[in-house]
Amino acid sequence: MIYPLKTVPVFKQYLWGGDTLKTKFKKDIPGSFAAESWEVSCHDDGLCTVANGIFKGKTLKEVIFSDTKNMLGKETDIFPLLVKFLDAKDKLSVQVHPDNAFAAKHENGELGKTEMWYVIDAKPGAVLVYGLKEGTDSKTFCESAQNGTLEQHLNFVPAKKGDAFFIPSGTVHAICDGLLIAEIQQSSNTTYRVYDYNRTDKDGNKRELHIEKAVMATDYSASPLGQACYDVEDVPGGRMKTLAKCEYFTVIKYDIETEVLFSKPDTRFEMLVCTEGKGTLVYDGGTEEIKAGDSFFIPATMKNYSINGFCEILRSFE
Ligand code: ZN
Repeated sequence: MIYPLKTVPVFKQYLWGGDTLKTKFKKDIPGSFAAESWEVSCHDDGLCTVANGIFKGKTLKEVIFSDTKNMLGKETDIFPLLVKFLDAKDKLSVQVHPDNAFAAKHENGELGKTEMWYVIDAKPGAVLVYGLKEGTDSKTFCESAQNGTLEQHLNFVPAKKGDAFFIPSGTVHAICDGLLIAEIQQSSNTTYRVYDYNRTDKDGNKRELHIEKAVMATDYSASPLGQACYDVEDVPGGRMKTLAKCEYFTVIKYDIETEVLFSKPDTRFEMLVCTEGKGTLVYDGGTEEIKAGDSFFIPATMKNYSINGFCEILRSFE
């Protein structure tokens, strides 16, 4: 059975989370606040389940790996990507992720993590941390992380609705308060925290930092290029804009106004996230309603499909 698999996300309730996933996306979060929803995930730290059809209730991982060739288009035991929503009411700690080689060596074969952010919503004046200020070397980075003065070396950039940021492994980064973000990333949960604004919990304890590994994993030559820039293109039924394209993933945003046809090779799975509006996903065999906050996994052997309605869709693939 090949059909678009709608997912039930896994929520993460970190202290910095807000209530936007509930208020904007009508998500059934446990309690009043949620920081993250793992929308398309086969990572063992947060396994999505399937919301529709004959596979309803099973984990996405179980469904995909019981029919790997049809689902992923090749025989493999790795699901390479992960899609999340992040709702930051407060600032997140500043962090860096390793690349594949570093993670393989130091994190038991875990993948590295290159990621991209799409800003779904932002409060006026919102900023985020993107890289280190030019000229910050490993010694300065290490010393200032150790003595709690890293903030002066961080590159803060403005972030507004519709912005996209590409964050290669080795880039120091952080989401700040007032941002709702869709994150497409390598399927990895390896994070080295370097600065937490010297915050303490109610018992006066600071969160653990991972400065030694962060200093090694950081790429000091990376220029703080900030936003990805691709042109908007007209397509029949709407517009598209590439948000990120790298060796791990491609992410394209579609603004659908009537109906957009998506054609794809039958060797490639795709992931869809609806960030605004609503529509209907039409495929050979049926239809699925899709609305803001919904996510789908499109199996590799499902060829052409279309979405009609008035909505914004992020389409990601390897
Ligand atoms: Zn990150």
